[in-house]
Amino acid sequence: MTVVVGAAVASGCGDTPDSAPAVQDAKPASQVDADRKYLLERVDDAAVAQLYADGFEALPLREKTLIWHLYQAAIAGRDIYYDQRYRHNLEMREVLEQILTHAGGIDQGTLDEIRRYTKLFWLNTGPYNNLTARKFVLKTTPDAFAGAAKQASANGATFPLAPGETLDAMLTRMRPMFFDLSFDPIVTNKTPGEGKDKLAASANNLYAGVTEEDLKGFTEKYGVNARLVKRDGKLVEEVYKRGGRYSREIERVTAHLEAAAGFATEPMARALKALVRWYRTGETDDRIAYDIAWVQDKDSPVDTINGFIEVYMDPRGIKGSWEALVFYVNREKTEDIRKVAEAARWFEDRMPWDPKYRKPGVQGITANAIDVVIETGDSGPITPVGINLPNDQAIREKYGSKSVSLSNVSVAYDKSTAPEFRREFAWSDDEVRRGERWSSFSDELHTNLHEVIGHASGRVSERLKGTPQEALKEQFSALEEARADLIALYFLPDAKLAELGILEASDQQEIVRTQYESYARNALIQLRRVREGTQIEEDHMRNRQMIVRWLMATTKAIEVRTRAAKTYYVMVDVKAFRDGVGRLLGDVQRIKAEGDYAAAKALFETHGIHFDAKLRDEIVARVDRLKMPSYTGFVQPRLQPVTDSNGTITDVTITYPQDLTQQMLEYSGKRTPPDGLTPD
Ligand SMILES: [Zn+2]
Repeated sequence: MTVVVGAAVASGCGDTPDSAPAVQDAKPASQVDADRKYLLERVDDAAVAQLYADGFEALPLREKTLIWHLYQAAIAGRDIYYDQRYRHNLEMREVLEQILTHAGGIDQGTLDEIRRYTKLFWLNTGPYNNLTARKFVLKTTPDAFAGAAKQASANGATFPLAPGETLDAMLTRMRPMFFDLSFDPIVTNKTPGEGKDKLAASANNLYAGVTEEDLKGFTEKYGVNARLVKRDGKLVEEVYKRGGRYSREIERVTAHLEAAAGFATEPMARALKALVRWYRTGETDDRIAYDIAWVQDKDSPVDTINGFIEVYMDPRGIKGSWEALVFYVNREKTEDIRKVAEAARWFEDRMPWDPKYRKPGVQGITANAIDVVIETGDSGPITPVGINLPNDQAIREKYGSKSVSLSNVSVAYDKSTAPEFRREFAWSDDEVRRGERWSSFSDELHTNLHEVIGHASGRVSERLKGTPQEALKEQFSALEEARADLIALYFLPDAKLAELGILEASDQQEIVRTQYESYARNALIQLRRVREGTQIEEDHMRNRQMIVRWLMATTKAIEVRTRAAKTYYVMVDVKAFRDGVGRLLGDVQRIKAEGDYAAAKALFETHGIHFDAKLRDEIVARVDRLKMPSYTGFVQPRLQPVTDSNGTITDVTITYPQDLTQQMLEYSGKRTPPDGLTPD
């Protein structure tokens, strides 16, 4: 499970920034270039920022070499996620990249539009907005696009033609994908409306020709790592494994993982080998063995997440999206997070829910602050700020979980955001001042509590047959995110935090107020991300909308005020806020533990999904005036090995390309920068 940027991170209060003093860098400021570039460019409502991994250079050679192999494994699997997200994705990407790399003589206006579209395509891994799930299209004419493709072809571009197909025929065939908003309009539609089918209404490639109706009475053998296809009227599971679906990519990924194992610590090598085995067989038992080996590797300074993991893209919440992250532990920041983790038992015993849902023995939660070196697939270029795995509830209960907070991502979010945004949505100068002083700190603490205590807590009812995922279906992810957020909000005012030395008792009131204020504001500010329709799709956004609107409906904690035709959500009563959070949390835990689908659905339908279009239009106008981005994608660090005459790696260098286009073309094999960069 993940935390994404929004309420709970360094760019908190719904992506408002923090002024510099509150930010704690991974490295002393003296070690980094003071005027280094974070914000690289803006593409429509997206920001592109550079991610830095300052601790990398100081790592021992063995760890650098390990990271180098894992980095290659991350790039090798990237296309899996492209294909999972949309069946036409790879073909579309190839057409766009062929044009961009053979662009001489193309009409400038057309080329600029193709560049804009392609950047959004790369950032979102295809033509669907990562927040709204809706399709975006090329804003040029099909004729102008065809003209560009023909010019590129004359310049030597080779297009992905079907056998016997002409370029013209290909362009006609692909026209609906690039130009028609009503063709495959939504990537994941968890609530398509009464009587409509979630799978049929979702354009992603986790299913092909399958409806929910087809699944009745069908026993699924594979969970996260198989595509479900209807073939000759029968359901078939296409397993992602060597010799199965994505075999070619998986071969490459596993070759790099095997090379990495030679440089890993003993427990990490065990986990890597278990992962390779799972990629080979695709069997659920091997997935479980890998999950256990991964969670048992608690102390390695380098780690990777690689495989079919998060289930947000699947409207059923079963199929995993491929992703890879490679990272090392940020020692300084890890200390704080560990203090929280070590007190897990204490928190579990005080959860404001029925004691029968408390975990009897809290398994070790391994919590680290990390710096990522690369993120691909489902986690890059758009990245979460916190991750807690494995997702398998049975393994979590028995073996515990590992939780990471992505420090350098939080810093980059923070540094790439402009300072006017907080003022726009804060009611008073006090609120602004508090945010400037405390939001970076309170957001990081919120993220830690969310991941380390939140997701790891609680147990399900003995009466529940199957998993909460199966019972709660499309409502599960949003409900689980709400549960983790509520736990963070609930314990933030607890004296235990000062006792643990995580904060000063004298600051706590201000910190709590800052976080509650920013949480309330966020429900308003997040509406800017859903520019079309009146329905929230993304699970973390649904969870935050639901919590705030539930508090507004049932407590006196938040007031809606207007001033000069602007709407504000003003947090006015800390105690009412916390009491409300405790009550809602008790209910949310009960819903999860009992698998109460009807209650989950009612909660989100009433408070979390639908919103007022007029209010959204007001928010959009306000953020557009300030040029506030809806989301950020990151250019990753770039590694390069240095070898001696025998081919042995003697060092691995890290550089920061500061160019999205160059990096995306390099990942798809069309550029070998910096020397191989050819001007078109
Ligand atoms: Zn989460």
